[in-house]
Amino acid sequence: MRFPLGFTLAQFNHRRRMLRQGQRRFPTVLMLEPLYTCNLQCLGCAGERHTGKLADRLTIEQCLQASDDCGAPIVNICGGEPTLYPELPELVAALIARRRYVLLCTNAIRLQDRILGVIGPDPHLFLMIHLDGMRQTHDMICRREGVFDTAIEGIREAKARGYTVMVNTTVYRETDIGEVEELCRLAASLRTDGVLISPGYEFDTAEAGLFLNDDERNAKFLRIREFAPRYKVNVTPVFLDFAAGLIELPCSPWSTVNFSPNGWRGPCYLIGATQHQRWQDFWEQTDWDYWESRSDARCRHCRMHSGFEHSAVEHAMATPTGRIRLGIWTISR
Ligand code: SF4
Repeated sequence: MRFPLGFTLAQFNHRRRMLRQGQRRFPTVLMLEPLYTCNLQCLGCAGERHTGKLADRLTIEQCLQASDDCGAPIVNICGGEPTLYPELPELVAALIARRRYVLLCTNAIRLQDRILGVIGPDPHLFLMIHLDGMRQTHDMICRREGVFDTAIEGIREAKARGYTVMVNTTVYRETDIGEVEELCRLAASLRTDGVLISPGYEFDTAEAGLFLNDDERNAKFLRIREFAPRYKVNVTPVFLDFAAGLIELPCSPWSTVNFSPNGWRGPCYLIGATQHQRWQDFWEQTDWDYWESRSDARCRHCRMHSGFEHSAVEHAMATPTGRIRLGIWTISR
C-alpha cells in the first residue's frame, strides 16, 4: 500500500465523520512548529525559521491544546528543527496517546541521538527526512558539507530498527529532474516508505531566484509525472497533474493548519497575513472563501502541496474514474 493501512483509514474515517457532520472545511493535518530554532540555515528557508531562540518555544501544553482544538488526525512536527525541541519525546508520546499520527519532519542531523532508540518505533510515528537532491545539491542547499551522508546513514539505521521512514524533497528552479529520479531510486534501495515531492514555495524572506516560475514548474512536474509510477511517490496523481499545470484546483488552506510560537498562522503556512492566539478566532475570522479562490496576488503561482492535496483528493472523489484512479494508487506499491 502507498501508506500504512491505519494511516489511510484514519484520514478516510476523519473525512467521512466531518462530511456526515455537514462540515465541508476541516483540518486533516496540523503543521506544528514548536520552535523556530534550527541547526541549519538552508537556502530555501526564511530567516525566521532558523533564528528563533529556544527559550521562545511552545510548551507541551500549548502543543497539545493546538492538537485538541483543531482535531486533525495527523500532526506534522516541523519548525525549526524538531530534534532540538528538548521535550520532544514527551510531546510525541502524548500525541500518540491521543491516537494522532505523528510525522517528524527532520534534517536527520540529530536523528541518531535524539530519536533512534529514544522515541519509537511506533506505527503512529513516521520519520520524514528532508533531502533536496543528491549529495552535492543537498549539501549546497543546506550550506553545509556532510548533511546528506549523515541523513542517509540515519535512514539506514532507522529502517534497520523498524521505523517508518519517508523522504521529503522540494523542487527548486535549479533542481535537475534526473537527480530527483536518482533520489527516488536511492530511497527505494534504502527501503524507505515513500518520497514526497513538492514544488518549492517562497516565504517572504527566502532566497530570491530559487523558486520556480509557472513554465519551469510545469515542465519539471510533467517529467516527474512520467517516472512517478515506477516509485513509491507519496503525492496523489491528481496533485501531480495540478503541479504540472494540467488541471486547476481551488485551494484548501484550512486542510493543513499551522500553529507556532506566534500562534495560528492564517490563512496558510506560506502567507502569514494574520496570527491568532485562539483557535476559534483563527477558524472563524479567516475569510476561507477568499483564500480558496486563489484571487490574492500572493496565491497566483502557488502550488504548495499542503494547500492543494486535499483539493486533489476531493477532485478525484467527485467522479467514478477519479475514485478508481485514487483507489488503485492507494493500494499499489
Ligand atoms: S494558494 Fe498557496 S498561498 Fe494562497 S492560500 Fe493557498 S496555500 Fe496559501
